[in-house]
Amino acid sequence: MTFTGTNKMDVREVIIIGSGPAGLTAAIYAGRAGLKPLVFTGYMYGGQLMFTTLVENFPGFPDGVDGPRLMENMKTQAAKFGAELKHVDATAVDFKKRPFEVAAGKEKFAAKSVIIATGATARRLGVPGESKLFGRGVSSCATCDGALYKGKTVAVVGGGDSAMEEALFLTRFASRVVIIHRRGELRASKIMRESAAANPKIKFAWFSTVAEVLSDGTRVTGVRLKDVRTSEMRDVPIDGLFLAIGHVPLTKFFKGQVDMDEEGYIIAHDGATRTSVEGVFVCGDVRDTRYRQAITAAANGCQAAIDCEKYLREMS
Ligand SMILES: Cc1cc2nc3c(=O)[nH]c(=O)nc-3n(C[C@H](O)[C@H](O)[C@H](O)COP(=O)(O)OP(=O)(O)OC[C@H]3O[C@@H](n4cnc5c(N)ncnc54)[C@H](O)[C@@H]3O)c2cc1C
Repeated sequence: MTFTGTNKMDVREVIIIGSGPAGLTAAIYAGRAGLKPLVFTGYMYGGQLMFTTLVENFPGFPDGVDGPRLMENMKTQAAKFGAELKHVDATAVDFKKRPFEVAAGKEKFAAKSVIIATGATARRLGVPGESKLFGRGVSSCATCDGALYKGKTVAVVGGGDSAMEEALFLTRFASRVVIIHRRGELRASKIMRESAAANPKIKFAWFSTVAEVLSDGTRVTGVRLKDVRTSEMRDVPIDGLFLAIGHVPLTKFFKGQVDMDEEGYIIAHDGATRTSVEGVFVCGDVRDTRYRQAITAAANGCQAAIDCEKYLREMS
């Protein structure tokens, strides 16, 4: 077993876990502050934007920017300011020790501070066609992709408030929005239910689940729906499918180390980046159940690095 960072010489100022907009922005700021951050990028380097094509709402790119290119640029910028990137997943942490320990498989690393930026993933349906078309007609973010469906037909899967919000937002662009729900009534709050029901562009596919996402090989052309009461199948032509069945924060290996809410989101105790452990900070979608945007994640990454730098300064 290799131990790195177990003697004083090797103790890092800061380890950043995650390489989406939050982690890499934290790395840019920490790097510029001279902290030489060590970044565990994870196997899913670049985060959620690696699954999309055009990002049209990130400031500074009036013609939009390719998601993977934006992340590659952030990575280059972080490395330019001295961030060291390890393309592996962190697999365990020990925040009870000082310095903190972060393990990646059998290797262990030590740091005076840690920034958690592991993000969250949209819950998937797990049906044929979904993975192949994710980011190419299957989306988990109406704010991000809604504008691509002007005058088209889209479907939203889910029955909660988020699903209603996504559906109502999509009616600004799409000519028709079908809400697919496995029950005969919605879980959403009364006000959201009523708004959706009153919108002439919204139709409901009750007692239905998605059995398959249909495509012509490159883009979504429809969904195959299963009636949960009769098991009958029917195909509904659509141009885009939005998943609104929740998100899962990637926090399993932080359990017992840092305070989380009941869904596993890490709690930022000051509403910004401070966690229940002094010296451990959190940023981006892994603590955000509300905004979930690249720019809010990046902004929060900046805050985490500034808070972390201040903590290290006060500690020394
Ligand atoms: C298809 C799609 C399209 C989108 N389009 C837009 C858009 O147009 N505009 C917009 O603003 N937002 C968009 N979003 C939302 C945006 O991508 C997210 O809000 C943003 O990426 C969140 O950034 P983050 O850094 O918090 O997390 P993420 O981007 O999720 O990054 C998390 C990082 O943590 C890493 N990680 C996880 N576990 C570990 C571990 N154990 N060890 C090391 N690393 C780990 C992952 O590898 C990943 O690099 C889109 C999302 C999706 C899925």
